[in-house]
Amino acid sequence: VPVGPTTAGRAAPRSTAGAGGADPPVLRAFVAGCPVDAGPSWDNVDPVDGSVRSRVQESGKDLVDRAVLAARAALDGPWGALSVAQRTGLMRKVADRIEARFEEFVLAESGDTGKPLAQARELDVARAVANFRAFADTVAAAGAPSYLTDLAGGKQALNYAVRKPLGVVAVIVPWNLPLLLLTWKVAPALACGNAVVVKPSEWTPTTATLLAEVLAEAGVPDGVYNVVHGFGPGSAGQFLTEHPGVDGVTFTGSSATGSAIMRTVAPRVRPVSFELGGKNAAVVFADADLELTLAGLTRSVFANTGQVCLCTERVYVERPVFDDVVAGLVKQAEALRLGRPDDPATTTGPLISTEHRERVLGYYRLAEEQGARVLVGGGVPALGDGLDGGSWISPTLWTGLTNADAPLRQEIFGPCAAIVPFDTEDEAVRLANDTDYGLASVVWTTNLSRGHRVAQRMRVGLSWVNTWFLRDLRSPFGGVGLSGIGREGGEHSLDFYTELTNVCVAL
Ligand code: NAD
Repeated sequence: VPVGPTTAGRAAPRSTAGAGGADPPVLRAFVAGCPVDAGPSWDNVDPVDGSVRSRVQESGKDLVDRAVLAARAALDGPWGALSVAQRTGLMRKVADRIEARFEEFVLAESGDTGKPLAQARELDVARAVANFRAFADTVAAAGAPSYLTDLAGGKQALNYAVRKPLGVVAVIVPWNLPLLLLTWKVAPALACGNAVVVKPSEWTPTTATLLAEVLAEAGVPDGVYNVVHGFGPGSAGQFLTEHPGVDGVTFTGSSATGSAIMRTVAPRVRPVSFELGGKNAAVVFADADLELTLAGLTRSVFANTGQVCLCTERVYVERPVFDDVVAGLVKQAEALRLGRPDDPATTTGPLISTEHRERVLGYYRLAEEQGARVLVGGGVPALGDGLDGGSWISPTLWTGLTNADAPLRQEIFGPCAAIVPFDTEDEAVRLANDTDYGLASVVWTTNLSRGHRVAQRMRVGLSWVNTWFLRDLRSPFGGVGLSGIGREGGEHSLDFYTELTNVCVAL
């Protein structure tokens, strides 16, 4: 598989259940409307200080089977009989219920990931609410095509398509924006009338479980939303994707795992929707508004400690402004404040785990071996204040690397970027497109003709000009190359979550 090292396949810490101290809460699977006891547990570790937040029970093959059967039974039962208006009405109630328990979701999401509370509020949980409302609107307004066909002898036939749910959908998501990415898939899936079995990341299991409670409170019938916990190969992720009762798999995660899932579902030819990794470029032209650009670049490189699929890891800067952009970005990186999630001054949390930190530090070392000049960061900060057991890492910037070097070719998924000069527009486009990935890019320029021109030449699914991360939830989201298959967002999500049956009537 032509993908670089990823976080896929690594193991979270396995069971230490029963170790001393007060027992942390136990997180169980959720099947057919009830929490269910599963297998042995592993520790869900707080990335801020290394403490154990909960013990998560791993779902075995039997439990995954029960979850898929529960989803099928829901489709064949009252859920399958609801009208579009009833289903989308329920989705709006789910949004209201998340709002009613907003702070609970914020604390759970920040607790699992270590991200600042303010960011969990402003992005993760707010977007979860928005996802349910946006997809309720989209599905309520959706139609299907029809064609009146002229036949010989002045006769006609009427073709019309009927939109039906795909069926039982497996939803597998990563740890970086757990609730945001989960609801991005669950909201359209349910609005379209599917039933789901979700497997959250082993690192961030809490909000998927909380969402089960909220869906039940809103009146979504039992079995429509089931949660299994576990890992990938040889665990719940594999059991779910290989299950013959699953009608399609929607997955967000690394390209290597996407490739593995594709092989698992291939014998049964099930549809997949994949939102995978990125190695995203920003291109800064000499005419860019420097203040706007530096603020945008800082966000796009360091947001969520660099753990967003859309984050910029390659910055190409036109030579006349290269020194200014480098100096400005270093200043912004130095101003980032690492700290506890509940400190309002904190801008940057830890990485998800010490395992992921080892992986990112491997790239920090590799960059230096390949001749990088480290402008800022490059290692592990000593924060003190009880935080040294956490998975903290220093925001890092390099110059002196080229596209031939691994830190510019492989997704790192940390708070770091390489800055590289260019001389012409064509060269900038060539450098930006010189990657196996194709998720997102940003062009910074005050020349809007050039902005449009270069944005269109980018071989990516998402091409921004003078902004980053701005999303209209109706617009298509996805990537090309190693970055994914298919587009989700607004009515584009219907392509995956529904099947069309064409009815042809001779008139
Ligand atoms: P990952 O691929 O390791 O894991 C993602 C999920 O897949 C987890 O729930 C994991 O348990 C499960 N899994 C792993 N192997 C599996 C298998 N063989 N079968 C079934 N399930 C399996 O990814 P991660 O480390 O959790 O997340 C980081 C990656 O996600 C990065 O590559 C990032 O770019 C990508 N990502 C992409 C988007 C996007 O929208 N394109 C958004 C966020 C993250």
